[in-house]
Amino acid sequence: MEKLKTFKPAMTPAIRMLFCLAFLLSLCGQPGTARAGVWCRGDLHAHSNYSDGDSPVAALVAEAERLGLDFFALTDHDGSLKGVPLHWSDPGYTSDKLVLLYGMEWTTISGHANVWAAAPFDYAPLWQAHRNHDPAATAAAMHEQGGLFSINHPEEFVICPWQYPVPEDTDCIEVWNALYSLPSMSRMAVHVFWDNLLQDGRRLTAVGGSDTHHLKKVFSLFYDLAMPTTWVWAQERTAEAILAGIKNGHVTISYSVDSPRFELAVDADGDGQFEIMMGDAAPEPSDAELSMKLSVIAPDNETAPTSGIARELGSEEIQALRKGGNLFANSVKKNKSSNIRRDERYLACVYKNGRLYKAWRMNGAASIAFSAPVQAGDYFRAELMGLPKMPLPLRLLYGYTIAVTNPVYIDPPIQ
Ligand SMILES: [Zn+2]
Ligand SMILES: [Zn+2]
Repeated sequence: MEKLKTFKPAMTPAIRMLFCLAFLLSLCGQPGTARAGVWCRGDLHAHSNYSDGDSPVAALVAEAERLGLDFFALTDHDGSLKGVPLHWSDPGYTSDKLVLLYGMEWTTISGHANVWAAAPFDYAPLWQAHRNHDPAATAAAMHEQGGLFSINHPEEFVICPWQYPVPEDTDCIEVWNALYSLPSMSRMAVHVFWDNLLQDGRRLTAVGGSDTHHLKKVFSLFYDLAMPTTWVWAQERTAEAILAGIKNGHVTISYSVDSPRFELAVDADGDGQFEIMMGDAAPEPSDAELSMKLSVIAPDNETAPTSGIARELGSEEIQALRKGGNLFANSVKKNKSSNIRRDERYLACVYKNGRLYKAWRMNGAASIAFSAPVQAGDYFRAELMGLPKMPLPLRLLYGYTIAVTNPVYIDPPIQ
């Protein structure tokens, strides 16, 4: 096998400084200020024939370009490559349309994790940590080089669930891996895994990953790049800014590249502007009540139309939904507005501290404003349920989830 020879041993100081600058700039949004930025959509998890995929790197990049993605991370298994990320130097790993990230799937018998950086980096310490079965050392080595560490499919029961403790340097949890119903059959289990960490005060970003292995063989009928799509609000369309957006939780996930985007925002200072976005924290207000807004945004629109209709569910229906399972699907089916397309009938759900808090039957792209009592330490996140635009057999595999947001957090009051 050809030796890797062209990469520098680590991220250069200039690149590291750029990453840090983007990270610091992204923290500058304060309540009341409008923040410039752009939503970038992409896929953070895919495999080529350098590991166990069926297609060459160039074919995956071409597919990502065809789908109109903004960013893409090829994450071949480190075990298949014996710790040498040859896919990064493949001549096909280049694009003038996409922002390409430099990724690898850290693949051990007790758990998988994706790592991403804005530039090629030294994988040797991560490979050493792989052989030591040491995810904490892996995550620390990734941070040392300015990248991110994300636990993959933690509740996957067929292949490889996460069985280690969650390292302190963990940045993300892949809450949506490929088909939401299969192979993990565990949407709720993954959310419990993530919510337990959030309840411990860990502000870990939820991301999605298609885990695409096949563009040609039969599995390509079920998996495609950007199913799901991870949307990242970035200050600009660069690798550094996209990674900073992920780190800061400015992320929402949709089932595919042409499905709606779902957002949760908070008006922290009562001026009618919902300036606190997902991943951010609002200080506990003096009257302990905060205004929030949910928005369903069509993928080709910048703003949500206001013509949609929403009806809030009563407490009995909420109690019933808390039992979970097929009740969500049944509730989606009950949304029988005659003049709205089936794929625009939604159940919009808000979770407070991991527990279903409010829900609305909703038609069309719309916004819902509501207020909620809050106290420091709370977090709110949202999910949009509905009928994904796909044939029935595929829908059974994907489930009824349209989109999942990251949380907004409540900090102690400003003294
Ligand atoms: Zn994996
Ligand atoms: Zn994978």
